[in-house]
This record gives sequence, C-alpha cells and structure tokens, in this order.
Amino acid sequence: MKKAILSLDVEDWYHLDYFRRSECDTSQSLLDGLDRYVDLINELSLPSSFFVLGEIAEKKIGYLKNLVKLGHDVGSHGWDHRRPMTMSPKVFQADLHRCLSAMKIINGDRGFGYRAPCFSLDRERLEIVRRAGFAYDSSRINFGNHPLYGTIDMLGFQNISESIYKQGDFVEFEATTLPILGNNIPISGGGYLRIFPWLVMKSMIAQHLKKNDIYVFYIHPFELSPLPLPKIPASTSPLTRFRFSCGRTRVVDRVKKLTDLLQSRGYEFTTFSAVQQELASSAAG
Ligand SMILES: [Zn+2]
Repeated sequence: MKKAILSLDVEDWYHLDYFRRSECDTSQSLLDGLDRYVDLINELSLPSSFFVLGEIAEKKIGYLKNLVKLGHDVGSHGWDHRRPMTMSPKVFQADLHRCLSAMKIINGDRGFGYRAPCFSLDRERLEIVRRAGFAYDSSRINFGNHPLYGTIDMLGFQNISESIYKQGDFVEFEATTLPILGNNIPISGGGYLRIFPWLVMKSMIAQHLKKNDIYVFYIHPFELSPLPLPKIPASTSPLTRFRFSCGRTRVVDRVKKLTDLLQSRGYEFTTFSAVQQELASSAAG
C-alpha cells in the first residue's frame, strides 16, 4: 500500500537555528500557523503527525489531547529546539525526559514518537530516544551536504521499505529526498514547497512517487501563519531572510496541490504512529 504522512514541527519562528535567539523579539509569535494547519487538514479530512517542542506542549495540553482524540499523532520535537548533536548524550537524555510527562498526559496509553530538531541525530542518541520509551523516531534524512543535519547508522535494523527501518517494535522513518545529479533534494520540506515553482516541485515529487511507496512531508507554523513577519534580527543574512519569508502566502494552496497529487497517484494518508502500530502488530501475529 502506498502511504503518505503529513507532519507539522510545532515550534515558533525564533526557534529556527538560523536566527540568533538572543536577538529575536520572542513576544512576536507565528504559532497561530498551528491553528491554520489544523483547519487545513480538517478541511481536507486528512490525518497528520505533529512533533511539538516541550516548552510549547506544556502550555497546550488540552489542545494536543484533542488532536490525538481526532486520530492525529502527537510526538516530541525536543524541549526548546536545541540540536541533539550539540548536546552530550547525558544532556540530550535530560532534554528528552523533560518532554516526557506532557507526552504521557497527551497520549495516555498510546505510543508516541520523536523528531530531532534539524534531523540532528546519530545512532548513539537514537538509542537514548528508544530507551526513553518512544515508539518511533522520524529524524533520519539522507541529505549529507547539510551542515546541521546528522546521519543515523541503521546497522541491525530491518529495512522494511526504502525509508522505514524496524528493530523489535521500534520504527525509524526517513524523510523523503530525491537524488538528482549526486545531490539529495529534500522534497519533503515546506521550505522547498514555498520556494520552488510548483511545476518543478510537482515534477520532482512525481519522480519520487514513481519508484517509492512512502512519501513524508513536514512543514512549520511560521510557514502557514497569515500574520506579518516579525522583525528579523539585523545579523540575519539576505539568503536566510529570503528562505524564511518567500512564498508564505501561497503555501496553503501548495499543500492542497500536493495532497491532490498524492491522492491522484493512489497514496493513502496515515500517521507515523499508525504505521508503527501496524508493523508492531504484524510482527506479533
Ligand atoms: Zn524544528
């Protein structure tokens, strides 16, 4: 079965690594993009996964519990968007544990997952995620040229499909990239959906769909918020300003085009949790 998984990394604009946090006016928020995203997936009647920062989850327990009740999947994106690869294993473990109590209240008996900020994870830290009690992880990306992204050695995992790995009941999901001329283009990210012309993006995604059964998409609230942009720190480079601000007004329309494309190619929408549970129960049976 061909499967598509939509996901939202629930963080504010000032959590992005390319801004100096100390120079950001954190009283200006674009987190209303979360409501806009929830309205959009409700309108499209699609399920989604959410990875929420601990410092945001704590303040939105009721809201997130309701998403789980509606069939969505709520996991953790770390406490405050510090990249795991910049933390010692011990500090990373403490960061994860700080997120756990909210995750348990939100999910009850259901398993929940983790996605590292900036996909910054290695095998040692993946084992810490697993030992902390997470049912799955979605931090793997095959995008070796990016200075912020980590790589995860999957030795000992069973390769279920081109982007799903399993060991026991624990499942690792890889974000979708497309190899072009020796580079892997992350066609799963909201930034690419905003910045590239739709016909270019459509053609790259269609190439991926021809050969693969899984498509993973991720986006952020700041990309969907209709509010004007906050004052960006003066130290921000012109390229970063462009990447941050380009195409925000067309992104809702692009997400609709993307989901139409996936549906027209026979992809069924699901969540990471649902796939993890399916794989765990098929192994048990
Ligand atoms: Zn993030």
